[in-house]
Amino acid sequence: MINETALERFIRYAKIDTQSSEESNTYPSTAKQFDLLNLLVGELKQLGLADVEIDGNGYVTATLPSNLPASHAARGKTPRIGLIAHVDTSPSASGTNVQPQVVTYTGGDLVLPGNPAVVIRASENPELKHNIGKTIVTSDGTTLLGADDKAGVAIIMTAAQTLINNPKLLHGDLRIAFTPDEEVGAGTKFFDIKKFGADFAYTIDGDTPGELNRETFSANQAVITVHGRNIHPGSAKGIMVNSLRTMADIIVRMPKDIAPETTEGYEPYIHPHVLNGEEAECTLKILLRDFNTPGLEVLKKKLEAIIAEVKPLHPKARIELKIIEQYRNMKDYMGKDLRVLECMEEAAKRAGLTPTWVPIRGGTDGSRLTEKGLPTPNIFTGGQNYHGPTEWLSVWGMEKSVETVVQLAQVWVERS
Ligand SMILES: [Zn+2]
Repeated sequence: MINETALERFIRYAKIDTQSSEESNTYPSTAKQFDLLNLLVGELKQLGLADVEIDGNGYVTATLPSNLPASHAARGKTPRIGLIAHVDTSPSASGTNVQPQVVTYTGGDLVLPGNPAVVIRASENPELKHNIGKTIVTSDGTTLLGADDKAGVAIIMTAAQTLINNPKLLHGDLRIAFTPDEEVGAGTKFFDIKKFGADFAYTIDGDTPGELNRETFSANQAVITVHGRNIHPGSAKGIMVNSLRTMADIIVRMPKDIAPETTEGYEPYIHPHVLNGEEAECTLKILLRDFNTPGLEVLKKKLEAIIAEVKPLHPKARIELKIIEQYRNMKDYMGKDLRVLECMEEAAKRAGLTPTWVPIRGGTDGSRLTEKGLPTPNIFTGGQNYHGPTEWLSVWGMEKSVETVVQLAQVWVERS
């Protein structure tokens, strides 16, 4: 175990079912996540890390203590750096009996053996062409692969091993955390930032090699409730107030050019995504997303204007709008010490990559950690097509991520 490759580790982790669940009142949302979390506790101890712990919520933490000699100028000055990955996989696709397929990619489309209808197409996967002649990992087509984020877990473990095996690679204190329930938006719900004790942290939970993330959406959820009145349709004339008709008039007015399916890059959106109800009452959940946090207010105003327009069409229906804060763009809270970003960019360069900063059209665990005071940008893993059976992992990309993390520890010493 001590000298495994990132790939060997990844295969072991991928086979363990750790799917999280939206329909759960427990934390973590599924007990099976402990199968991997507990395994990692053992492996961290075997690697020789210090302070290896798992708490009741499933958070696994450990320390790789600084190896800076007493005489080193940065000794005691190098910030404590956190490395974070999540163990759970998305509820959107099965994570049971994952059969990782390790193949040398030779070009063209990849038909997966467990389900010939599942094809990883070269035309839809521009990253494939960077992997011709290289090793990639897919599922058998009946499950997701779980590179999101078991690749991140394997990368952190392998980077720790590399630093332990090469004492000439100087680093400060590194804190490691493996977390549950990221995919159901609860990865940091009980995460104790103070106890973790890092000054800066990185999630290893991105995708394309070289891509780094320091910006996420700011996010609110809007909930529109329409209250109508139900009565037997046979005697409904002049009495029934069908809330569904009111809601339909609201939905049809939502701007089609401010939708996830028509926007990209830094563009905001309004996304109606869950509709429930009957004549008497119905509710619509809507995602409001903008990189510019004050822009969320603009999106809310658009909903208010739609409601104002619909109200006179249905005078007997009562329409309510509620806004729930979700998460904020990490950029707003990244702080003044830009080394957290400079060091990761330099580390990716030293790993031989051309780093690019890509805005994430979503949130990460780092969005919440950054907002709570622990600046936490995101680093690529080499995975692609998350949350479905066409997910695949570039082993080259995963190794580049290991290299980036190893370099990152050293760059921090130089910049301290
Ligand atoms: Zn992830």
